[in-house]
Order: sequence, then C-alpha cells, then structure tokens
Amino acid sequence: MANLSPNRNPMPTRDPMERRRDFGEVALGYTTQQAVDEAQRCLQCKHKPCVGGCPVCVDIPAFIQCVARGDFAAAYEVISRSSSLPAVCGRVCPQETQCESRCVRGNKGEPVAIGRLERFVADWHAAQTDAAVTRPAANGHRVAVVGSGPAGLACAGDLVKLGYDVTLFEALHLAGGVLVYGIPEFRLPKAIVQQEIDTLRQLGVHIETNMVIGKVLSVDELMTGGGFEAVFIGTGAGLPRFMGIPGENRNGVYSANEFLTRVNLMKAYQPGSATPIRPGRRVVVVGGGNVAMDAARCAMRLGAEEVTVVYRRSAEELPARAEEVEHAKEEGILFRFLSNPVEIIPDDAGNVGGVRCVEMELGEPDASGRRRPTVKPGSDFVMEADCVIMAIGTSPNPLIKATTADLETHRWGGIVADKTGATSRPGVFAGGDAVTGAATVILAMGAGKTAAAAMDKYIRDKAK
Ligand code: FAD
Ligand code: SF4
Ligand code: SF4
Repeated sequence: MANLSPNRNPMPTRDPMERRRDFGEVALGYTTQQAVDEAQRCLQCKHKPCVGGCPVCVDIPAFIQCVARGDFAAAYEVISRSSSLPAVCGRVCPQETQCESRCVRGNKGEPVAIGRLERFVADWHAAQTDAAVTRPAANGHRVAVVGSGPAGLACAGDLVKLGYDVTLFEALHLAGGVLVYGIPEFRLPKAIVQQEIDTLRQLGVHIETNMVIGKVLSVDELMTGGGFEAVFIGTGAGLPRFMGIPGENRNGVYSANEFLTRVNLMKAYQPGSATPIRPGRRVVVVGGGNVAMDAARCAMRLGAEEVTVVYRRSAEELPARAEEVEHAKEEGILFRFLSNPVEIIPDDAGNVGGVRCVEMELGEPDASGRRRPTVKPGSDFVMEADCVIMAIGTSPNPLIKATTADLETHRWGGIVADKTGATSRPGVFAGGDAVTGAATVILAMGAGKTAAAAMDKYIRDKAK
C-alpha cells in the first residue's frame, strides 16, 4: 500500500550528549519495518528523475520496489549492478544534492530517503550472506592499481571479476584510503570497509601495503620490469593546503589530514595509542566542508570543551553534508560564520594561544558561483584556542607526476585523463580525487569502474 506521508521516516540516532564522547556509529539504520514503510513512499516515477541525480545511475525505483515488497536480496542485486560500495555510499553520499535532490516527493514534502534505504539493503546483505566468494577464471593478464581508496577498490574489484591478476599497491599500512584514514568511525564503521577489502582478497586481489609508488617502485617500473600491462592511478588528493598566515607553524596547529589520520587510522583516542592527541580545552577548526565537520566532531570526542568551526562564508554556503552539520550542532559544535583567521597567536610558551580573525562580507558570485567573501575593514577579533585544525582543502600529491614519464597534469596537480580514465601515457589510467581534486566517494568509485572497463578494452585490443 502506498505511503502518502509527506515526511520520511526519521533515521534513528544515538543521543547527542552520549555519542559526542565516543566513536560508536551515530546513525543506527532503519529497522525492516521502517525500510518497507519508507520504500512505500516511492511513486515509481516512469521517467526516474532520481536516477539522473546519482553519479553511477543506480536504478533507484527498481531497488526501492524490491524493498517495498520485502525482497531485500533482489534489492541488493539491483544496487550492486551500478555500485561496488553501497554500505559506504548509503552512509556518506551527499544525497541531498544528488539522488534525493531530484526526487518528486521532495516537491511537496521530504524526498524518499534513498540513501537510508541503500544503507539498509547493504547492511541486510552483509548480515545475511555468508556464501563463499568464487574466484573468477584467470584471463592471463596482469594489472596494477595504485591507491586503495574508493577509486582503487572499485577498479580492482571490476578487473579481478573479469579474470585479471590484480595487484593493489597502497602507501599506508592499511587499505581503504579516506574511508579508513579520513572519515571517522562514528560516521563509517571501519568493519564495513574491511569487509570490502576482505572480499577483494578472497576474489584474488593481491594487496601490498606500505608501498609508496614513486619511492619504492615507480609507475614506469611497474609497466616495464613489473610486467603489468596497464596501471590505474587512484592516489587521491591527500596533500593538505595551509592558509600561509603568521603563526601557522606553531605547536598545536594541525592539518585536518594529519589530525584525522592520527585519530582514525592510528586510533589516537584509544589508551596506549602511539600517536596520542590532546587537543586541549578550546579547539578552532578552519573550513566548512565534511573534513571540517569530521575534525570538529573528533576534537569533541577527544575531550575538548569548546569546539568552534570558523568559516569565511555564511551558513547557506557550507559545503558539508546537511546531516553532518546537523549532527555537529546537536553535539555542541559552535559555528562562527563570515570570519577568517589572519594570524595564529602564541601562548606564553610559544604554542597556540589564540586565533586573530577578521569578519567577512559576501560580495558578487565568484567562478564557483558562490558569493565571494571580502574583509570587513577594522573587524579584527581574537578567539582563544589551544589547538587549531586547518581544513581548507587538499590537492594531489606531486610524487606520481614527478616520477612518471610523459604523464600530463594540470597546473594545480590533478592528472589529466579523458572520460574513460585514459591519461597521456598509453596503458596508464587514472581516476578519483587524483584527477578531479577533492570530490566524493561515489564519483571516485564511478571513475574506478569506468577506468576498469577502459583498461580491459585497452588490453584486449592490444592482444588482438
Ligand atoms: P583516496 O580515498 O584519497 O585514496 C587514495 C589512496 O591512495 C590513499 O589510501 C593513499 O594513501 C594512497 N596513495 C597516495 N599516494 C600513493 C602512492 N604514491 N603510492 C601508493 N598509494 C598511494 N566524500 C563523500 O562522498 N561523503 C563524505 O561524507 C565525505 N567525507 C569526507 C571526509 C573526509 C575527512 C575526507 C578527507 C574526505 C571526505 N569525502 C567524502 C571525500 C571522499 O572521501 C574522497 O573524494 C574519496 O575518498 C576519493 O577517493 P580516491 O580513491 O580518489 O582517493
Ligand atoms: Fe544516491 Fe549515492 Fe546511492 Fe547514487 S550511490 S543512489 S547518489 S546514495
Ligand atoms: Fe521514487 Fe522519488 Fe525516484 Fe520518483 S523520484 S521514483 S518517488 S525515488
């Protein structure tokens, strides 16, 4: 029976005052009853507008129809035709600007909760299925994948299923990219990522960690001595940007990248951690994206009493997912909009003692379409702080460019690749943040899948 409620089923979440001091998952997921009820809100629109909002074109009405009739296995089958990481995307996709932004139910109420349903289906599948993974028949060709974020995982997964002998090289000691070192446990439990990696291993992917390509081996060496017929570069955009303001090198100033890696990958919050972080009483986080929200919420969980996000535009321009901003506010994170740091001020010992900021005004839209912030004259103010976390963006690490012959890159560092992922170097493909700059999990995953198909074609054409 159709559900005509204008409101979606709310996502059950843990109490903000309890969860803000631990790393357990915040959103608890729909029950079966809630999922079926929500699925019944879908109108099964003939022209499927929601699908046009999904970067990998998940057949949304088809999977939701399966959920509505309680056939969750069929729903999983539909989603996995387009997405390799539904448990991840159901949790972290910015649905409000993607699939859900096109849902017609949103015209007179709330859109169907597509992401929550996707998460439900993926979690149901993970809980029900214990079938052994069958290794595909080998096709006799070897390929390498560099970087194990969503782009690399999706590319490796598609290639191994086509029978390729795949080796995945990862610089860190754990595979998963931003999914393990960036996005915190309370938003994306690491067991989910680990399950994906275990499946790849069972399918036959060789995963070599602690392998910095460009240092231990170069892409050129993989292509020549290494015997790989094609290489995919999915090395992300992990090089942090700084503001270049006085005092930014003081003790107590972190890049969000370092801060989150120490928290998430190195478990700085566990007793006996090799990389403990004591952020002190007052923390200032600079930036307004998902990275800033994650850093602020981690700082709160590490024991800070007051955490303030300083953002140079207004609340309307915050690039972070709406749900993350909402959760951050519920947990007591403060926001100081239209403000920008100009100096990190020392305490008596020369460590971080405060942040001098200026107020901003919004002018005409800039190239990004957002209104350009300009400094309000004479508006200086000081915020006291024991720790400052810079979350103002990242760019691709120049190592691969510097060590790979004939690889064309943009001036800002991104690898130049066509829409199949092919680069200027025959046999070398690239995708994800390494090509686009910092973007989203689903776009990286989609790029990995597209490149896998192009690598397969490249190798088959060469073998003719
Ligand atoms: P990455 O995930 O960055 O993976 C690249 C991998 O390559 C890393 O493991 C790195 O160690 C490895 N590597 C780098 N150089 C080398 C080398 N030379 N040799 C071998 N390995 C190498 N997106 C969303 O959609 N929703 C969110 O909520 C969201 N939140 C985010 C929160 C944070 C804190 C961050 C940092 C990002 C977030 N994103 C989010 C963005 C999203 O995670 C990225 O767009 C996505 O992970 C990019 O995938 P990727 O595979 O291209 O690169
Ligand atoms: Fe929406 Fe992301 Fe799922 Fe696509 S993959 S349907 S954008 S949640
Ligand atoms: Fe269902 Fe919304 Fe998609 Fe229509 S637009 S098919 S209501 S999810």
